[in-house]
Amino acid sequence: MVGHIPTLPDLGDVAGKRVLVRTDFNVPMEHGEITDDFRIRSALPTISWLTERGAQVVCASHLGRPKGAPDPKYSMDAVRARLAALAPGVELLENLRFDPGEEGNDPAFVARLVEGVDAYVNDAFGAAHRAHASIVGPPRTLPSAMGLLLQKEVDVLLGLRNNPKRPFVAVLGGSKISDKLGVVEALLGVVDALVIGGAMCFTFLAAKGYPIGDSLWEPDQVETCKRLLAGGKRIHLPEDLVGVDAEGNFATFGIHLPDGAKGFDIGPGTAAAFSDVIIESRTVFWNGPMGMFEDPRFAAGTRTIAQAMADTKAFTVVGGGDSAAALAQFGLDDEVDHVSTGGGASLELLELGDLPGLAALRGAPNA
Ligand code: ADP
Ligand code: MG
Repeated sequence: MVGHIPTLPDLGDVAGKRVLVRTDFNVPMEHGEITDDFRIRSALPTISWLTERGAQVVCASHLGRPKGAPDPKYSMDAVRARLAALAPGVELLENLRFDPGEEGNDPAFVARLVEGVDAYVNDAFGAAHRAHASIVGPPRTLPSAMGLLLQKEVDVLLGLRNNPKRPFVAVLGGSKISDKLGVVEALLGVVDALVIGGAMCFTFLAAKGYPIGDSLWEPDQVETCKRLLAGGKRIHLPEDLVGVDAEGNFATFGIHLPDGAKGFDIGPGTAAAFSDVIIESRTVFWNGPMGMFEDPRFAAGTRTIAQAMADTKAFTVVGGGDSAAALAQFGLDDEVDHVSTGGGASLELLELGDLPGLAALRGAPNA
């Protein structure tokens, strides 16, 4: 990566200036209530850095996927209320994705965003892998900087990528299979071993010829999985599973799922084996829960892996909204070295060593 990415001091004197801060306030919500405000709290160091120096801070974020039009379901009201409690006097714009210009990176939308604004800060690590208007637009004209959160994320993840203590293992799970398979290939060039659980494991198990019942999988990714499995790196897959049988009753299985059964978690034997890999590594990156941990019947695998992340002496990094929520649910979020606020962004930074949002900052007038 060439070129300097400006940091907050590169903004110069911010007293009396209006500073647009792109934050990632895409928090989990249920019935209009915020269920975890980790992402809001994560932006506070940057916000206070600016307000303590006399800046007027205007935050802007997306929330959910409102498809380019106002949708009360994705209004920022609850976030605004929480932000007002945590950082009084800070403004928050309405959901950026209420305007199709955000995801379309429309210059007219950028022009409206930067109107009356003196400087721009990107602290939205979770969105920095998207070339959206609020990420790549403002640095074209405004003095810009990365916020403290973005800076920390970049330091930790590029450190993992460029200089990991080995063995370095990536533990992958979750449900966004095709999204993540792309980076698995690149990750294989960086890590010594992969551990695969969550819904992601079923496409791999299918590629190995195991019957997976009605578990979540992506048939069009089987060839990719076969190629990855043939690649010579260690790929650890489950040897037992937990889920429901064809009648929908809780059941434990070996590696062969009967017709109609669904795998919703790794089994206890697998969880123990995966834990051993984590304990024996010196660097571990974890993205994606091992099962449908939101349901207590299928949380044990994810809980065991979270505990191994807490117990290992390895340098541990967890990325991904649901993975971070799982850690918090088990009360283990303080036991790992770094909890990344971005799932896709952390994978892409590990994969490519750069992000559209970082490239944009490198091109800012003050860079
Ligand atoms: P992250 O947000 O950490 O990047 P993802 O969004 O990819 O993770 O996936 C999280 C979701 O994956 C969780 O809601 C969880 O219930 C689901 N999940 C994990 N394993 C399974 C499985 N075997 N079957 C169905 N869903 C699963
Ligand atoms: Mg998720």
